[in-house]
Amino acid sequence: MRGMKRSVLAIALGMSLTAHAWAAGKEVTPAKVRQAHDSALVLDTHLDTPANFSRPGWSIRDRHDHDGDQSQVDLPRMKEGGLDGGFWVIYTEQGSRDEAGNRAARDHGLTRLVEIREMIAANAADFELVSTAADAERIAATGKRVSFISMENASPLASDPSLLELYHKLGLRMLGITHVKNNDFGDSSTDAAGPQWNGLSPKGKALVVEANRLGLILDASHASDQVFDQLLELSKAPIVLSHTSADAMFDHPRNIDDARIRKLAAKGGVIHVNAYGGYLISIPKHPQREAALEALSQKYGEESGRDEAKVQAYLKERAEIDQRFPVPQATFEDYMRHLLHILKVAGPQHVGIGADWDGGGGVAGMEDVAALPKITERLLKEGYSEADIHAIWGGNLLRVLRAVEAVAEPMRR
Ligand SMILES: [Zn+2]
Repeated sequence: MRGMKRSVLAIALGMSLTAHAWAAGKEVTPAKVRQAHDSALVLDTHLDTPANFSRPGWSIRDRHDHDGDQSQVDLPRMKEGGLDGGFWVIYTEQGSRDEAGNRAARDHGLTRLVEIREMIAANAADFELVSTAADAERIAATGKRVSFISMENASPLASDPSLLELYHKLGLRMLGITHVKNNDFGDSSTDAAGPQWNGLSPKGKALVVEANRLGLILDASHASDQVFDQLLELSKAPIVLSHTSADAMFDHPRNIDDARIRKLAAKGGVIHVNAYGGYLISIPKHPQREAALEALSQKYGEESGRDEAKVQAYLKERAEIDQRFPVPQATFEDYMRHLLHILKVAGPQHVGIGADWDGGGGVAGMEDVAALPKITERLLKEGYSEADIHAIWGGNLLRVLRAVEAVAEPMRR
């Protein structure tokens, strides 16, 4: 109804009126926000929380506090923020690309996959592994958390790309090609050495064919623009950006330009907007701060190995560094600037949320998933309809998954 009213008004005024200009500052009651939010299937495409699963003493069942231990996702906060689920990420840091490095990446990927499956199995009353769009809707209706699995950086497949079939069998449904460095499959957007393959490598192109055949959503986040272009061209199914922000709001190699957002939308894809501060606003380089943070992380070792006492000691030292070398922090308004811009460029049928929780995402005013209804509130205030909000929170993602399933079906016969 709102859409019709808007277009009639626009015609009457003889001008084009955006949802933003027409409805900004709309009054919405807390009850309306909760109703719109809770009636949506709320999914996030990039949950880096599996890094916490093996943290000694840390349980997804306990309510943590972001200030207390820096975590952003657990079952109590998912319920509070109405987060029905999303993609638990198998993230692998890009190591050396020789035999030993490939073997380490292979083992890391499989270990993370096992940890995700163990978390779901140990909490079967509250979480369920999901492999199809239809499953996601069925499981959400039971009140369990919809648990998809994705991979960020395909390096665990470098030694043997045929592992992708096993991963798929064990639940993987989304595949991101690179992380912050180039790998054997393609170029990253942020490798200091520049492009190695000018997009996808021959091995990367073969991986795209295999992902289509198996029924995996291809994810171009972190990959170079050339990889994005080639994925869009080669994939027989729509692709996504699982956690990416807009160049037009802050020009950064990790973000994407409006022309590419339009191309993604034209092919049925979805961009899930990232809440990673360093990609939302310009944070000046602070070499002393970076050196101090690097020394600190060396001192405390891998995050997943830190117990509660170590976490507290780390946070205390970290706060001292923040005080000594302060930098600007991205805010909820900065996040909304990117999200609202991308909505205008792509249209609400091609936008979703992938805030990089537990992977560096979160902004002042939206520190963890308990705060997610703020996004819904703001979208309602901007004049987006409940149908738009349902599409943004999960409908668009499931549409992509259904398209991926439809492409895979005849190829697998
Ligand atoms: Zn990432």
